[in-house]
Amino acid sequence: MEQTSVLGHGIVSIKSKKPGRTIGVFCNVHGNEPSGRASLRRVLDNYAIESGTLVIIDANPEAALLDQRYVTADMNRMFTAELLASQNPHHDLARAQYLSKLLPELGLDCAVDLHSTSSAIKFPFAVGFTGADPVMELCPIARISGWNEIFMAGTLVEWLCKNGVPSVTVEGGQHRSQSAIDVAEHVLLSVLSHFEFIRLENPILTEPQKSFEVIKHVTVGDAVSFKFMKPYASFDELAPKEFIAADETREYLAPAEAGYSILMPGDQTAINCGRLPDAYYLIKEIQM
Ligand SMILES: [Zn+2]
Repeated sequence: MEQTSVLGHGIVSIKSKKPGRTIGVFCNVHGNEPSGRASLRRVLDNYAIESGTLVIIDANPEAALLDQRYVTADMNRMFTAELLASQNPHHDLARAQYLSKLLPELGLDCAVDLHSTSSAIKFPFAVGFTGADPVMELCPIARISGWNEIFMAGTLVEWLCKNGVPSVTVEGGQHRSQSAIDVAEHVLLSVLSHFEFIRLENPILTEPQKSFEVIKHVTVGDAVSFKFMKPYASFDELAPKEFIAADETREYLAPAEAGYSILMPGDQTAINCGRLPDAYYLIKEIQM
């Protein structure tokens, strides 16, 4: 039998009898993305952990309880040196500070952070920062590399990678879709079977996968007047100089050259309320 222990608030480890790696699985970094915990539940219902230690982290239980992305601000932008050192934190920041103190003590060898998206996506993808490759290669989905602090500052996985824990963010599909659960489960099965935590009847093949590089992060100029010219989905290809969106400050055009696609277009309502500063990302496919 595995041994289950509570390691902290919302943090549980399942230790098998056989020694092995320590793998972290994060759910609820965004509280309105239930596919992560649903997929984990499926895996644990159907497989015994045969070696190693699985650490399950309910990253933001307060946000999950409210079924909101965050309580007062996005925790997944708070893993910066400055914010983690700030005084008198509340809600999401208090949780980020708690995790940043506890996680280094857990001895994670790698980690997977399960998410879903507000907009539709053509295919699921894994996001990897510098240092993520050893676990990125195990994700049987499209991969987007080239992320750094300029494109996206303060994410949990970037902070983990910087602290020597190869980690990826998995964007499984649209919030509350069945496919988001299926994808997250597929990734977990691939990673866990690779490290012999579980035994699969049919091994998961991880190659070849589409691969992209993130080129630009586009932020919203004026939240209230921002409007997309049409509904975009991640990986929609952009025509040269395509008129993507507009607000009082400017027009948002695609680059003059062909070959770019849009990634994670922000939810129009969330942008207009001022809840989301990100308009979209520009990506380019890497030809292998
Ligand atoms: Zn998310």
